[in-house]
Amino acid sequence: MPSSRMRTETERMSETASQPPFFKQVNRYFDRAAAHLDLPPGLLGQIKTCNSVYHVSFPVKRDDGTIDVVHGWRAHHSQHRLPVKGGFRLTMHASEDEVTALAALMTYKCALVNVPYGGAKGAIRIEKSDYSEAELERIIRRYTFELMQKNCIGPGLDVPGPDMGVGAKEIAWMLDTYTAIARAEINAEACVTGKPIELGGVRGRVEATGRGVFFGVRETVNDAETMKELGLSTGLDGKAVVVQGLGNVGYYASTFMAEEGARIVGIIEREGAIFDPAGLDVAEVRAHREAGGSILELEAETKLEPSRAIEGLEWPCDILVPAAIENVIRAENAARIQAKIIAEGANGPTTADAANVLNERGILQLPDMYLNAGGVTVSYFEWVKNLSHVRFGRMQRRFEASQSRGLMDAVEGLVGQTFPRGTYEDIAVGASEEDLVNSGLEETMVIALQEMNELARREGVDLRTAAFMNAIGKVAVAYSERGIFP
Ligand code: NAD
Repeated sequence: MPSSRMRTETERMSETASQPPFFKQVNRYFDRAAAHLDLPPGLLGQIKTCNSVYHVSFPVKRDDGTIDVVHGWRAHHSQHRLPVKGGFRLTMHASEDEVTALAALMTYKCALVNVPYGGAKGAIRIEKSDYSEAELERIIRRYTFELMQKNCIGPGLDVPGPDMGVGAKEIAWMLDTYTAIARAEINAEACVTGKPIELGGVRGRVEATGRGVFFGVRETVNDAETMKELGLSTGLDGKAVVVQGLGNVGYYASTFMAEEGARIVGIIEREGAIFDPAGLDVAEVRAHREAGGSILELEAETKLEPSRAIEGLEWPCDILVPAAIENVIRAENAARIQAKIIAEGANGPTTADAANVLNERGILQLPDMYLNAGGVTVSYFEWVKNLSHVRFGRMQRRFEASQSRGLMDAVEGLVGQTFPRGTYEDIAVGASEEDLVNSGLEETMVIALQEMNELARREGVDLRTAAFMNAIGKVAVAYSERGIFP
């Protein structure tokens, strides 16, 4: 429920950020795509607007007995499908503008990859590292309780998931708070996604967003026509990659790309940036950071101090993966980006002005709303698993394995030869939950890219505009189906 107080808050945050508000940036992309669509202005206006934003503040008792007042938000951008879905983040730069923009991106992202949700997003404005684990638990539990009071969480209403600074532990606290209150709700487990497996999570969710980024990049670099336009060879093998943010998305995306032969030449983090054309070992860098070290302590050809780390975005590479925060590629640095492909792992890393500069320079942008949709796609699988109360593969895995064995035995009988035992054992298995989740994710990313590419080529527009056109069209159909608009 937007209020004049919240609007002032949005404006204040935008002024201090000395750049256009994030939601305005998203709407500039929306308007560009809408100009290519023959839809009534009223319908476009309804799709674009954010339906409601809840701003909550509550006290939290610190371990030393003092009290902090904590601010949180939950934005519901569109309820054309229910529940609404979107992660929540813990950051100091959280604001109404940010959650609104991110909720809007969720609406379009879900539509693009055919996941039946409206868009939502949440945030709590804290510096996570300033709080003890016990304090964080109190904050998350209280935030969950506040969301329950306003119907902002529930399996059929609003299903939060992980985002920046939020992992399975925070999600487990949220689930526990919800289920402690909604005891009789048989589908309570589906109130949140990104849960630990033991609490109803799905295998493959942790890596899902990074894996989706990998699938999108792999499909793009395997497309001969696209690579010819960019002057690149096909395939990931040997491609130089710079990644910003070695968190959940950046770590898995770069790990999967490296497994296909890409060289991770640059890593940009909060504490600085490192570059080495010979390639960096992503697992080693992550382990070093997790042990409390800084990437600047590791061996590399070039290093940048924190104040200049953002310049790492301009390092020479084939693929740049911004996977940290929004608005890092702006009009002022877009002209110096050397990558041929920008693979947007983060939400909103490129401002609308920067996107224009990059388009003019022929740099291919794989837009966030497509490329990082793997997270919500696998969250959708988790939600379906929770609602069906059965693990994927449980019903058919053994049956599939015995079918395969029967078929191979019959072939052996017919031809009078036996399969090598290794091959036999490899084929005689049914799909596990993780196999099914990863296969569903791959199918989703491949199909969505095909749809975007076809639309982009047919309409002569860039991929981001095509992604918005596709998504807006689907949301428009949902409204029309409900008889709200012609
Ligand atoms: P995360 O908290 O796991 O990781 C973020 C990483 O970025 C951290 O390592 C952090 O140190 C680094 N970072 C923060 N500020 C930085 C800066 N100014 N410069 C360089 N590095 C910086 O978060 P995440 O879940 O990986 O999310 C990253 C982005 O991906 C966000 O934009 C998020 O909205 C988006 N995203 C995440 C998911 C998901 O499933 N986790 C899904 C879709 C989109």
